[in-house]
Amino acid sequence: MSFDKITVPSEGEKITVENGELRVPDNPILCFIEGDGIGPDIMTASKRIWDAAVEKAYNKSRKIAWMEVYSGEKAASVYDGNYMPEETFDALREYLIGIKGPLTTPIGGGFRSLNVTLRQVLDLYSCVRPVRWYKGVPSPLKRPDEVDVVIYRENTEDVYAGIEYEAGSPENERLARFLREDLGANFFEGAGIGIKPISEFGTKRHVRAAIKYAIQHDRKSVTLVHKGNIQKFTEGAFMKWGYEVAAAEFPDETISWDDVAANHGGKVPSGKILIQDVIADIIFQKMILRPSEFDVLATPNLNGDYLSDAVAAEVGGVGIAPGANIGDAVALFEATHGTAPKYSNLDKVNPGSLLFSGVMMLEHIGWQEAADLITSAYERTLDQKIVTYDFARQMDGAVEVRTSEFATAVIRNMDA
Ligand code: NAP
Repeated sequence: MSFDKITVPSEGEKITVENGELRVPDNPILCFIEGDGIGPDIMTASKRIWDAAVEKAYNKSRKIAWMEVYSGEKAASVYDGNYMPEETFDALREYLIGIKGPLTTPIGGGFRSLNVTLRQVLDLYSCVRPVRWYKGVPSPLKRPDEVDVVIYRENTEDVYAGIEYEAGSPENERLARFLREDLGANFFEGAGIGIKPISEFGTKRHVRAAIKYAIQHDRKSVTLVHKGNIQKFTEGAFMKWGYEVAAAEFPDETISWDDVAANHGGKVPSGKILIQDVIADIIFQKMILRPSEFDVLATPNLNGDYLSDAVAAEVGGVGIAPGANIGDAVALFEATHGTAPKYSNLDKVNPGSLLFSGVMMLEHIGWQEAADLITSAYERTLDQKIVTYDFARQMDGAVEVRTSEFATAVIRNMDA
């Protein structure tokens, strides 16, 4: 495929899928979207770190071929006002893997959000957020080291489906009449109405992905987080379908809590991944009081949105939390914070969120050694109290550095 504004790097090769598995060459083409606001600062710093780690981990035998694709303000300047060019979708569909900085959603540009558009158009149905503590990162918890979870948030359904009708609009009045007269529903006059669709198809493909992740990464449990005690046919169904997909498709690898209690004296047999569930409000308490009880958390869209940020705050906040949006083949890794416009081009902010999203990307393509090199060098840098402003203001004796200087320190620490 040829592109109008995208330059395909001549020295790189395409990642492909064979028999459901990624086939990754030694010089894979990976897409990147630089991002707006602080995007250029954190992308430049992170790319230096990813490249250095790959070079060191594989003794120069592997190298990422970066291919810039465009979205947001940079796209608007390259594509004459178009914030979301079609060939960006084409490139991601063809090259499968990409990483993006934060994007400003243009006001009045016809988009609810560029991020949501990317997820929906590419059908990236699971939002994946690993949350763990790194030694030295300031935390409000007494035992932040007990936090090590991966939140799988469903990305396409629930109240985010965009089926909402404003109070007083003709659509709202039609729907309200139907609900009252045909279905006997009872609610206040003048209510805005939103619809919360949660399907068996959407739930099962998402929970299936969470279970596969747990198997591949030797995780102990998958917890289905839901508010099914109240919302029985949406959140309750999410739980039911989640248990069903585990029992039907992963009978050898997983075991349900009911089975453990009834047949194994409350002890999970070795080698099995526990499938359990927890009510959404309780998980917020437990993730503060007893976080070590949780591992992979599979959630519907809205609960997962809240939970991801709340749990990230336990171990350092949005400046460091990484994320990815993953579909059947395409995966787009991303910084989870916004564009923080007041810090644009100041070389000041923490690149941690984007950096660790890239670590997830390296793990996703099977380059674990490079990923591990970054994690250990990062921890060493924090140990030396070399940090950006956001951590510096919470740490005694910190050495505050710029984004680029932080990257240099991490790269230096790869040799330690
Ligand atoms: P934000 O950009 O995430 O910034 C809020 C605050 O979070 C910043 O002022 C800063 O706090 C802290 N922060 C964010 N990134 C940081 C980093 N890398 N290092 C250290 N601290 C960091 O949220 P916002 O101001 O609400 O949103 C700004 C724009 O971003 C909006 O246009 C929004 O639509 C967009 N947005 C995009 C995404 C995305 O692309 N995924 C996500 C959310 C928002 P202090 O000032 O306290 O230091």
